[in-house]
Amino acid sequence: MNIKKVLKGTFLVVLALLVGAIFWQIKSELPHSVNQPKKVVDDKKSKPAPVLEKTAEPAKSKKADSKSAKADWLKSETPIEFPILMYHHIADVVDGNTLFVPADEFEMEMMALKNAGYYTLTPEEAYRVLTTNEKPAEKIVWVTFDDGYKNAYDTAMPILSRLEMTGSFFIITGMRDDEDKMPDEMLLKMKQNSLISLESHTVNHPDLEYLTNDQADSELRDSKQELDRLLKQKTSVICYPAGRYNNETAELAENAGYKLGLTTNPGLASSRNGLFALNRVRVAYGHSEATFMALIGDK
Ligand SMILES: [Zn+2]
Repeated sequence: MNIKKVLKGTFLVVLALLVGAIFWQIKSELPHSVNQPKKVVDDKKSKPAPVLEKTAEPAKSKKADSKSAKADWLKSETPIEFPILMYHHIADVVDGNTLFVPADEFEMEMMALKNAGYYTLTPEEAYRVLTTNEKPAEKIVWVTFDDGYKNAYDTAMPILSRLEMTGSFFIITGMRDDEDKMPDEMLLKMKQNSLISLESHTVNHPDLEYLTNDQADSELRDSKQELDRLLKQKTSVICYPAGRYNNETAELAENAGYKLGLTTNPGLASSRNGLFALNRVRVAYGHSEATFMALIGDK
């Protein structure tokens, strides 16, 4: 009888210990199991967005911080002039087409700018330079890309992100996802990168010069509206297709809500030409670092 009681007692103690141990185990594992799914979510998040986005993120905040903290905007005695670089495809050259610049050449050019101390402007900063005649650095440049090709996403953006330089891309809203043009998913991913700006290149890429005012007006307004909606932004720059515009284009663009208009007229940009007729420097393939720096008038 006594032995039975003792056995029963021992059994209960062991049972209690077991239950306690299991509880303790669950408790200590709980934080793990809570963390686990979180980790998985993070991994998933970074998978569709390739490495470039991950590296772009910290670069962004760093850039934003350093911009607000470090950028000393200084008024200039003389009217400020600066290069607005014009690129199209960043890809291997096809059929000698000068709209192509190979990736390694483009990277060399961006490195050359960086090494020479150039500050890359956002559209907002370019507007400030042109309207207040003050600048955030001695050497400034605005890097632009026309037509919204997929290699903007695949090739140009990763290089800009790596070097922490800004770039502005002009989108033909009616040709999104056409052949070699970026679809909305790419545009939305680019929008997440604060080094990148997406601006208008009209709806159908017509020569604005030859359109009636009504036609030009809808090209300007509809493309802006579409980008504003898709990207939840205030699109502020119009890049004229083939650089073409007429005497009325500036007023139409301003009334449509734009702040700046870019042409393909060669030369440095300055407010002298008006905010809606800014010159650009066309960059073709084949440059060495020296000829590239000469092209943009670097001294
Ligand atoms: Zn174009």
